[in-house]
Amino acid sequence: RLKYMMINFEVHKKVYLIGAGPGDPELLTIKAVNALKKANAVLYDRLISKEILEYAPKNAAMIYVGKKKGNHSLPQEEICNLLIQLASKNPYVVRLKGGDPFIFGRGGEEYEAVTSMGLNCEVIPGITAAMGAAASLGLSLTHRDHSSEVVLLTGHKQIGKNMTNYPDFSKLILKNKTHIIYMGLSQVESIAKDILTNNSGMENFPAMIVENATLPNQRTIIGTISNIYNKAIEAKAVSPALVILGEVIRNFPVL
Ligand code: SAH
Repeated sequence: RLKYMMINFEVHKKVYLIGAGPGDPELLTIKAVNALKKANAVLYDRLISKEILEYAPKNAAMIYVGKKKGNHSLPQEEICNLLIQLASKNPYVVRLKGGDPFIFGRGGEEYEAVTSMGLNCEVIPGITAAMGAAASLGLSLTHRDHSSEVVLLTGHKQIGKNMTNYPDFSKLILKNKTHIIYMGLSQVESIAKDILTNNSGMENFPAMIVENATLPNQRTIIGTISNIYNKAIEAKAVSPALVILGEVIRNFPVL
């Protein structure tokens, strides 16, 4: 861990860890807008719309910490360190993250870093990509005819502190459930292969990719477990994208 500086508790009031929603700027909560309006400094990720950033006061420091094409984002530790430094010099610091701050995206680590320094941290939830996509498609994730369970998974191979943070796709049980895979686009081929190793007869189970959910350039690619990879290649699918697996897709008008 980097050495964190001393906090000036006479200055510090609050750090807000805010979910900015999936893309459409109108899917921001009123609570998030009110916090942004007070911000002295804002740390934001890629995919946060300009309209949302504009709620911050004109003189607020706006600091981009997301990934640029070809470049890596700031290491997580540096983001945490920066948050703490800013919180020491400014009454209100906002950390804006896509979707919901506690659904993937490492908001939990930032919360821990900030609170471990004794700083006040308020978490403001956001609409996670899965819920944004479902709403904009008219796709009920728990439609009574098809699904009694919703599972949010990561498709990104990443090692957490205490576990190998990667689902075992060969063990998924697809029936009567809706699986929504975040960060899974580049892994679709291996995910489909793993699923089919233990799920013979599931080749035609519905699968779907939703790109840029809730944004004007939202796009969907619909197929089955066995052909979704080829369809994604054909359509040149790009990130950010969700991979959805579930019978609920059968209700989708295009099928
Ligand atoms: N905290 C975020 C998720 C961060 S992980 C949330 O709650 O939504 C980043 C992944 O989220 C992306 O790889 C993609 O799988 C998904 N994602 C984020 N925004 C998206 C969007 N507008 N459309 C589709 N997928 C999106």
